[in-house]
Amino acid sequence: MFKRFFKPKEIELGGINFIIKYTVRKNMKRMLLRVEKKGEIKISLPRSLFLNANSFILEHQEWIIEQHTQLIEPFAEGSVFYFKAKKYLISHHRKPLFIKSSTVFLDPSRAKKQSNAFYTQKAKAYLPKRLEYFRQKMQVEFSELRFYSCKRKWGSCTSQKRITLNPYMMKLNDEMIDYILVHELAHLKHMSHSKDFYAYVQEFIPEYKRIQKEITTLSSIF
Ligand SMILES: [Zn+2]
Repeated sequence: MFKRFFKPKEIELGGINFIIKYTVRKNMKRMLLRVEKKGEIKISLPRSLFLNANSFILEHQEWIIEQHTQLIEPFAEGSVFYFKAKKYLISHHRKPLFIKSSTVFLDPSRAKKQSNAFYTQKAKAYLPKRLEYFRQKMQVEFSELRFYSCKRKWGSCTSQKRITLNPYMMKLNDEMIDYILVHELAHLKHMSHSKDFYAYVQEFIPEYKRIQKEITTLSSIF
């Protein structure tokens, strides 16, 4: 039977034992990799590409290991720390977080707190000015701006015209940040993600579709 080929398989990458779980999707054209759990690789693929799956995984082994380390130990020595889409390598010390050339020094015992504080501080210094720049261009008004970090959302806008921004968007690059800001401001005119909404967004961010895709790809990392 064909089915047996899709049983989970084991593979060793960089000294780590992974289980590969396959999901066959009819309408997919290419393969998609994900590392969501410790020691687990998920691959979605069309049936026709099944025989290519192993070489696809081997081609991406560096990326898989990086994702895995990021997942199980996000602040490990040598792990990647993103700020404005630039990669910094983590180095441990026992003092407050600081960045020097391409290294970020942080205290592993307080890493989560330190990085939260870092992104919040950067967000508060950068985002309000940028938001105001687009607000004037778009000629909209909001009632309040808040900062709130959450895993699932980069930003939100309520019907009371309150805008909430996720400080972690400071991990992204400038055009991605701009798109998120314009997206939330556009909700002041159109609450739902209608055609009119996206037409309005496009007036200010012509390449929003490409940028939106890039953000989605990165969101699985962050
Ligand atoms: Zn929206």
